[in-house]
Amino acid sequence: MKKLFALLLFFAAFAVHAKTVDIVIRNGTILTMAGPNIAKGGVAIDKGTIVAVGNISGYTGRTTIDATGEAVLPGFINTHTHVPMVLFRGIADDRALMDWLQHFIFPAEAKNVTAEFVKWGTRLGAAEMIESGTTTFTDMYYFEDEVAAEAKRAGLRAVAGETLIDFPAPDNKTWDAAMAYCRSYIKKWQGDPLITPALAPHSPYLVSKEHLIDTRRLANELHAPILIHVSETKAEQKQIAEQHDGLTPAAYLDSIGFLGHDVVAAHGVWLDADDIRIFAEKGVGVAHCPRSNMMLADGIAPVVDMLKGGVNVGIGTDGPAGSGNNLDMLEDTVLAARLQKVAKMDPTALSARKVLEMATIGGAKVLGLDTKIGTLEAGKRADIIIMNLQHVRTQPVYAVESAIVYAATGDDVATTIVDGKVLMRDRKVLTVNVPEAIAKAKQYRDQVEKTLQYHPGS
Ligand SMILES: [Zn+2]
Repeated sequence: MKKLFALLLFFAAFAVHAKTVDIVIRNGTILTMAGPNIAKGGVAIDKGTIVAVGNISGYTGRTTIDATGEAVLPGFINTHTHVPMVLFRGIADDRALMDWLQHFIFPAEAKNVTAEFVKWGTRLGAAEMIESGTTTFTDMYYFEDEVAAEAKRAGLRAVAGETLIDFPAPDNKTWDAAMAYCRSYIKKWQGDPLITPALAPHSPYLVSKEHLIDTRRLANELHAPILIHVSETKAEQKQIAEQHDGLTPAAYLDSIGFLGHDVVAAHGVWLDADDIRIFAEKGVGVAHCPRSNMMLADGIAPVVDMLKGGVNVGIGTDGPAGSGNNLDMLEDTVLAARLQKVAKMDPTALSARKVLEMATIGGAKVLGLDTKIGTLEAGKRADIIIMNLQHVRTQPVYAVESAIVYAATGDDVATTIVDGKVLMRDRKVLTVNVPEAIAKAKQYRDQVEKTLQYHPGS
């Protein structure tokens, strides 16, 4: 009897003493993306981890965020971009991919891209991503060690891939130098709580078979993911077929043992039914970049067919110079829905809920990070955004997914949290000196413009 009394006393004491955690978010509409939405719910966060979702009456926070009238959801996961290219925003728009790459981007990169350029570009891009609710980004660029360092500095999660290409790059002038760079870069960052270092061979048309096999070998040895552009344009399909026995880019990569669950293929615009089967079997994830595909008139990726075929598909902005021009994931999320509707002539082809899943847990699956991020569930890392839906453009709200995807913009993100750290609160970015980053961007603009042989607006 005495024992029972003591036990009851213990539970009573426990009930009145709420557990104190780092952050509690209260009174929001919670989109866990793992089940039904929760009206007037909360999230409790401690030491970077989500400890409770929904009813959090047993928790008090050292920081409390009142999310009345706001939506609380997992942060957006950008599965494909080239962040430092923010400093080239608008230098060569309205051109076809090959013309744009060969005659504008590659020459501009050769003249301007340095470690400093990458550092400042990433810093500006980090502020833009934090402001528009991206909590994880997947990057392919040069001097990737700088990208990783800036992501960490800003508090963002990143899968950061060093670009490998068969001509002298701004950082590494030979293939051997690039391989050596990757080896030390990957070893330096592996195990970091925010950064996943990766290998990023540009594409099957700009990296030789021998070098793709080299990359696969190094990825296996170091357990690093691989990021690559695949089946972006019709021209690529034609070139690969001519060079490799009539194969599609996906079939060619499969034939050399390159594909695996650790590969993120950007675009996949021209994947056919066999390619989709190969990607599903090999566990290759696809980064769908609708805005880039529209801008460069590449075509429309068979997203509905990929999803039906069991391929993981996430959303990407692609680079912010000539293919998208900003890093606002919501823009690509809504375009993903609209483009499939028009492609299939079916307004039910992809719903607001489905594209929101692609932008969150779908992206996490593509990156192999779905046990850590992508949903709001106890035990996952706290990568969370809070969207203010009280603005004129989002009122009134009947269906929260519709309000977010079809009415809101990235500017409606009020608060961004990554790994339990608040990076932006009520639109104030806390981890990047934004005026300084903008001032530097203007300096770079003047410097870059002097190296161009043409007028960007012409
Ligand atoms: Zn790209």
